[in-house]
Amino acid sequence: MKTASPHCGAWLQRQDGGSTRNLVKLTKRMRFDLITIFPEFFAGPLDHGILRRARETGLVEVNVQDLRAFTKDRHRTVDDRPFGGGEGMVLKPEPLFEAVESLLGRGVGEAAKPGAGDPNSAIVLMSAAGKLFRQETARRYAQLEHIIFICGRYEGVDERVAEHLATDEISIGDFVLSGGELPAMMVVDAVTRLLPGALGNEASSQNESFSAVADDRTGSSQPLQRCRQSLLDFPHYTRPAEYRGWSVPEILIGGNHAEVAKWRRAAAVEKTRRNRPDLI
Ligand code: SAH
Repeated sequence: MKTASPHCGAWLQRQDGGSTRNLVKLTKRMRFDLITIFPEFFAGPLDHGILRRARETGLVEVNVQDLRAFTKDRHRTVDDRPFGGGEGMVLKPEPLFEAVESLLGRGVGEAAKPGAGDPNSAIVLMSAAGKLFRQETARRYAQLEHIIFICGRYEGVDERVAEHLATDEISIGDFVLSGGELPAMMVVDAVTRLLPGALGNEASSQNESFSAVADDRTGSSQPLQRCRQSLLDFPHYTRPAEYRGWSVPEILIGGNHAEVAKWRRAAAVEKTRRNRPDLI
């Protein structure tokens, strides 16, 4: 049977007459491994909302790996002074390579004999000097089966990790944080909510900021010439229709779907122009 994703096992369930719901559940199972010197850091963020539900239903499996478990000295040293001098400390390569190899269950090789990659997994180094993480990156990651995150600390990570261990070096924005844990969590969150079955309503991840061009978002048949790639989400309103004298746009209350779609499209364009002119 032809498969629509790398998670092919469950597609075969269709032959057994499984419902679509079960199919989705079984189809997408993602494993995230987070390598960190602060394992306790992740206790809160993993335990709420969509991520919590995705873990409970087995849609994703999240493992937190203490980097110090891969040290061999008495002090469990993970960092050392930078060659060439300068401020701060740098995470050493050995514990990181060994942690990743242990999670992969295979070696990644050496200069003389590099190991082969695996198209269904990614080894992501969180780094302010990495490529910018975008919604399209999240969509690409959502197709994988296994993602290992390396969370840096101090001045960063020995460059051989970026060059010869990580498959991707990713930044979550043009600012510098004190560690890669929050950035990794953000990526885990963004990817998880794209997995089929993670959101209550699948349309939610199709009609939102960065998800598609304007026409797909609103059902309008008019091509939006100036929108190259994506728009921000349109503004949302809920009850009460009037609050402290501020009213919800009349058109949203009227129930005319075509008019609502038109309004939303225009409002999304206006908001994108105002907040993110670089996208247009
Ligand atoms: N000296 C580095 C910053 C190190 S900050 C530089 O100037 O680029 C320590 C760690 O925090 C990094 O190794 C990285 O894992 C994480 N980090 C900081 N900012 C980040 C960002 N914008 N995106 C992803 N990770 C980041």
